[in-house]
Amino acid sequence: MKLDTISISTIKKIGPKREKILNGAGLNTISDLLNYYPRKYIDRQTITKIRDFTENSGEITIVVKLYSKKIFKKGNREILNISFTDGSGVVSAVWFKGVSFWKSKLKENEEYILSGKPKFFNGWQFSHPVLEKLENATEGNNTKTGRIISLYPLNQLFNTLNIDSNTIRKYVFDILQEYGNKIDDIIPQQILSDNRLVTYQEALENIHFPENDEVKKMAIRRLKFDELFYLQLILAKRKLNISKIKKINTISNAGEKTKLLYDKLPFELTDAQKNVVKDIYNDLKSAKIMNRMVQGDVGSGKTIVALLAIVIMVSNGYQAAIMAPTEILAEQHYLGFKKFCEDLDINISLLKGKMRKKLKDEVLGNIANGVSNIIVGTHALIQKNVEFQNLGLIVVDEQHRFGVIQRGDLIKKAKNPPNILVMTATPIPRTLSLSVYGDLDVSIINSLPKGRKTIKTGIRYSHSLDKVYNFIIKEIKEGRQAYIVYPLIEKSEKLDIQAAVEGFEDLQHSHFYGIKMAILHGKMKGEEKEEIMKDFKANKTKILISTTVIEVGVDVPNATIMLIMNSERFGLSQIHQLRGRVGRGSQQSYCILNVSDEIKEESMERMKILEQSADGFKISEEDFKLRGPGEFFGQKQSGMPDFKLANLLWDYDLMKLARKEAFKLLSKDPYLSRHPDLRNYMNKNYKDKVEFLEIS
Ligand code: ADP
Ligand code: MG
Repeated sequence: MKLDTISISTIKKIGPKREKILNGAGLNTISDLLNYYPRKYIDRQTITKIRDFTENSGEITIVVKLYSKKIFKKGNREILNISFTDGSGVVSAVWFKGVSFWKSKLKENEEYILSGKPKFFNGWQFSHPVLEKLENATEGNNTKTGRIISLYPLNQLFNTLNIDSNTIRKYVFDILQEYGNKIDDIIPQQILSDNRLVTYQEALENIHFPENDEVKKMAIRRLKFDELFYLQLILAKRKLNISKIKKINTISNAGEKTKLLYDKLPFELTDAQKNVVKDIYNDLKSAKIMNRMVQGDVGSGKTIVALLAIVIMVSNGYQAAIMAPTEILAEQHYLGFKKFCEDLDINISLLKGKMRKKLKDEVLGNIANGVSNIIVGTHALIQKNVEFQNLGLIVVDEQHRFGVIQRGDLIKKAKNPPNILVMTATPIPRTLSLSVYGDLDVSIINSLPKGRKTIKTGIRYSHSLDKVYNFIIKEIKEGRQAYIVYPLIEKSEKLDIQAAVEGFEDLQHSHFYGIKMAILHGKMKGEEKEEIMKDFKANKTKILISTTVIEVGVDVPNATIMLIMNSERFGLSQIHQLRGRVGRGSQQSYCILNVSDEIKEESMERMKILEQSADGFKISEEDFKLRGPGEFFGQKQSGMPDFKLANLLWDYDLMKLARKEAFKLLSKDPYLSRHPDLRNYMNKNYKDKVEFLEIS
């Protein structure tokens, strides 16, 4: 039965006023109410004897008989006082509100089940306890006490119409009474039985009205599975759609230029790099479009891997593009690639958002007529006005800075859909790789180039900054260079820059007087930034002061010090990225985390994680635990459905299971023609997430 088409107004107890308020909380249909899961539970199934009460027993449930009712007057207020016994002792309960209601409702010699927190005055006393006739409770109509009780998320507006957990529980109870055995299960039976998953009906009954912890757990497991399964179906479908795109940009060998480049590399690739290049080469040769992510910690050498992929395509007569999240990084790639590709007869163009019109038109022309072989750029690469002649590959560097939407746009962008390679330096928790990036093939560069020394990381309070500055001077005298990064002070780039500018002026005239310094931030002009980076790279500038614009990608191996001011204001992964700017050469490098003298203890604990670990995966998991997925990515991931129950960090095993089953199902039944209910559900609920499941 289609419970998601039945309005909540069909429930007797919901009138127009309550309906409106419930609608406001997204509760429109009875299926919404069934999926309005408890936020927590209290155990009112364990019956305590009155004689066993202690001062700190917290909430207690008892079964008692009423033996007397009295009304007291206090000023002009009436207080109802009722006495109960369970044979082992006596308790009283008081009501200050609803006095006449409760007085007539509760009857002498009736048995009740009662929950509340007792206090000891002249004997044990409850104030406004939860009560239910024992008779009702034993008949199973009871929703308030004598069992595990669900508590629901509530809001202010609910309050205005007295909608509390009891109210919602009662709605759900009535719905289950009426429709319980008409709840369809859209997950294929086989999947349920193979994985010991309870039916949907059972899961809903037990998440709202669990008889014990075990069935509650089974219910939650099933409902979490559903959420993850739908996500994985979306991903599986996306992957399937991509694999069905007709590939035109085929190649059969790596080409002459690739060989030339490979032979003159200034270093030998690590085994990890070689394996990833192999994965990519196989993808490029295969009949399917490449859709791969390369994950590797900062400094693991992703750029050269990308360049090899690019040159393979160029060698075969196609254009290839690389998109970077910042202009600085795009410029660096542009200069780096030019150096690597000297003598290879390859034309490289740089395309940015802000360029002089004449130059931009020229670049756009070269991209369109095929004169440009490699195009390095920012977001500007995927604007409408950019037309490629024969784009064979697009690389997205530092993909985590972009979000997910653009990937689809990339495929749609070209006449002939290009191969896609995304690279990310933020190692993300395992469960997330199976979700956000779950439609990609993944290669991991899991080791750093040989000869790297571990970066020494230390936390330093502001009051000892003098010593830190002296240390920087000492390193500079030995030929090294340093970064000093200023953090977000407010959520405003302007103030951010101001802090860096002030720091720059101050230091230039005090501690670092006579040392060549420069400042870099996001609001500077392209050429200016280029100049500054060039000077720093050439070791003309010794100290580079900057905002977080250097967070991603910047590569200056001679820089050995990274000082991060007020580092407690950063996310852990972000610091890990910043730290990755040093330790790129053979010299010992240092990352100094300045913290305020008044730093809070929990922030200090957080910073210590960085002192102790250089493992990007571990750091990202900690970061994720502390900040949640939205913050973690720096922006809301538009491709992700919201979960009510599943947790991206903890539910790895269940996610894997859901993934296996979803991919298996789609491989056998790509249009879900044999599971029409599931197909309709997906089409109805996730239409915006993927061009999902066309009716076959
Ligand atoms: P990331 O993975 O953070 O993008 P890069 O690609 O910027 O790292 O590489 C970091 C540094 O390591 C660069 O200076 C690069 O030239 C160097 N590098 C890359 N691969 C190797 C290697 N196999 N051996 C030695 N140095 C390497
Ligand atoms: Mg990089």
